[in-house]
Amino acid sequence: MPLPRDHDALICPLGLTSDQFVALCKSSLGIARPTSLEAYRRVFRDGLITFSPAAASLAPVETTLRDQSPEGEVIKFTQRVSGVARPDSPGLESLATESVLIPMIGRTRQNTYTLCVSSQVGCAMGCTFCETAQMGLIRSLTPAEIVGQWFAAATHFGIRPKNVVFMGMGEPLDNFDNVIQAIAVLKDHNGPHVPISNITVSTVGRVEGIRRLAEQIRHDGWHRLGLAISLNAPNDDIRSGLMPINRRWNMQELQAALIDWPRFAGNKICVEYVLIPGVNDQEQHASEVAAFLDPLRADDGIRPRAVLNLIPYNPRRASPWPAPEEAQVEQFMGWLGARGVFVKRRRTKGRSMYGACGQLGSEKIRQRRLVQPTISA
Ligand code: SF4
Repeated sequence: MPLPRDHDALICPLGLTSDQFVALCKSSLGIARPTSLEAYRRVFRDGLITFSPAAASLAPVETTLRDQSPEGEVIKFTQRVSGVARPDSPGLESLATESVLIPMIGRTRQNTYTLCVSSQVGCAMGCTFCETAQMGLIRSLTPAEIVGQWFAAATHFGIRPKNVVFMGMGEPLDNFDNVIQAIAVLKDHNGPHVPISNITVSTVGRVEGIRRLAEQIRHDGWHRLGLAISLNAPNDDIRSGLMPINRRWNMQELQAALIDWPRFAGNKICVEYVLIPGVNDQEQHASEVAAFLDPLRADDGIRPRAVLNLIPYNPRRASPWPAPEEAQVEQFMGWLGARGVFVKRRRTKGRSMYGACGQLGSEKIRQRRLVQPTISA
């Protein structure tokens, strides 16, 4: 049963867990639990939002790009969200989130989708290989705007993603509280009900944020949250050149935080390595990466706690580097494997439409912003 129309308002369910929504309906509107809980379920189950202001606050899908991959259609979409004031002109700057639906074929040959969500519009982290960094940080997204990306996938495209990864625009740990709240909604069994083990937070390596997240996953219901780290370099010299965050927290500090990451059954750390020709693709680099990962083994000292995810570089616009040749990727994987690194290769999808890893970001916004790499920790 939907909430009564005259009670609109006040409450957009997308940024709230069912418990929060029910409590707010009760305290603000005097609505009994069965009514508000059913309304909440219908929002996420049927896409039914009948109380208008809440519906108005849902960002509609604005643009859609599609690209065929061997596993199905990759869909990149944008949603308009409220803008921010600009000092150089009246009115609000118009902003959009970017999300990508990535098809996968599982072990059982079933087609599923992973939804890559943005946590910010733009990003302050300034990684030199990344399109989003060219925008700078415009603003962080609210929990409702983050969950709104899942809602758009489910209602606009009719796809309920199996996995949600925070690998779109932005550094999630730079928007910590809103990301945690969004995950609480995503995993709510009355809401999207995405299993916590199917949600992954990917960070540039904000050590203080990783430690906060480690505290969070000690809570019941959070143990199996996935963690992904963008390593991308074999040593501090190269990493500081690629990723300014490394000047704030170097690889030794990052490694220490990963060693301290809580150990619960089945929770692995995904270490991402974007292979960039002429930058981080030599045999010596593979040795250094292996040494970095060596302490990240399971308690038996044999099995990996960290899995290296090798990502062939997807050139950003005006990139100084090309994408690697297939042979270079294979060779680097071989070097890692020979050193005992458990490595998986990420298949590139959506590169031609700037929907692949590191390629999200508005060219329009970038064109009128100064590029200011920052470590704003
Ligand atoms: S790689 Fe991630 S953290 Fe680095 S600039 Fe791009 S979006 Fe930000």
